[in-house]
Amino acid sequence: MDEKRALVSRILNFSCVDGPGNRLVIFLQGCNFNCKNCHNPHTINHCNHCGDCVSGCPTQALSIDAHDKVVWDESLCTHCDHCIDVCPHKSSPKIFSYSVTDLIELIKQQRYFISGITVSGGEATLQLPFIIQLFERVKSDPELSHLTCFIDSNGYLPQTGWQRVEPWLDGVMVDLKAWQQETHQWLVGRSNHKVIASITYLASIGKLHELRLLHIPGKSDLDSQLNDLVRLINTLPEDLVVRLNAFQHHGVVGEALQWEKCSELEMTRFHQLLAGKISQPIKLPTVYT
Ligand code: SF4
Ligand code: SF4
Repeated sequence: MDEKRALVSRILNFSCVDGPGNRLVIFLQGCNFNCKNCHNPHTINHCNHCGDCVSGCPTQALSIDAHDKVVWDESLCTHCDHCIDVCPHKSSPKIFSYSVTDLIELIKQQRYFISGITVSGGEATLQLPFIIQLFERVKSDPELSHLTCFIDSNGYLPQTGWQRVEPWLDGVMVDLKAWQQETHQWLVGRSNHKVIASITYLASIGKLHELRLLHIPGKSDLDSQLNDLVRLINTLPEDLVVRLNAFQHHGVVGEALQWEKCSELEMTRFHQLLAGKISQPIKLPTVYT
């Protein structure tokens, strides 16, 4: 079997907000949404090696090789993020390529301190063959098989994709960013039919761990479309976690910087609309920046 590799933007050795318990999180590069509110827009596209970021690097950590590819020398990089700021392509030259074996070794180093791993993004499921091989290796390794394997997803993967990873999958966190097609299309560039189908399918096989609802005052529509939203949530399992996400400006670029941030007061209003209409536990943001 060919060993798969993944393009990785970042690895967090410990996180307590990316699934249950303490988790090692692998953020994969590339996304099939183009959210106006994205907090990490440099993770959306793969670098096209245009070279625009190279000359501005203050430490000469970027260069162009003999094949016209931009090469990043991590040892020279000070992580000033100038290259990310100037990239016209919503990308980054600071991307790692990891094989499944590389990551298994890393997970083994952390195995006593974590309850599982989460693959996130970008949109992790764009690199599904890699995820399947990684999860399979975790579950079949006696030193790692106690770890849970989660995916943080925008929900755009079709059911056939979920079925391929299902044997090794413990749970999924799915974002729902808007209810009406026009709003969802405007906000992320794609419709939400597949997202809602994923939510329903994952719930039916017991793999939907968390449903994340985005609230952008006056822009997203989950508060104004509450009855339809509640109807969906009431079909989902009782032990599902419903997490409310408050739009903030951190990392955001473009027109969304002009949008009103979601205050704690506004989030409390949304929470009050929802609480009492659904039986699942609701988690609120802890930080508003
Ligand atoms: S983040 Fe690193 S590679 Fe990018 S401009 Fe700064 S020093 Fe150069
Ligand atoms: S990171 Fe962006 S600016 Fe730099 S080479 Fe890649 S696409 Fe061009």
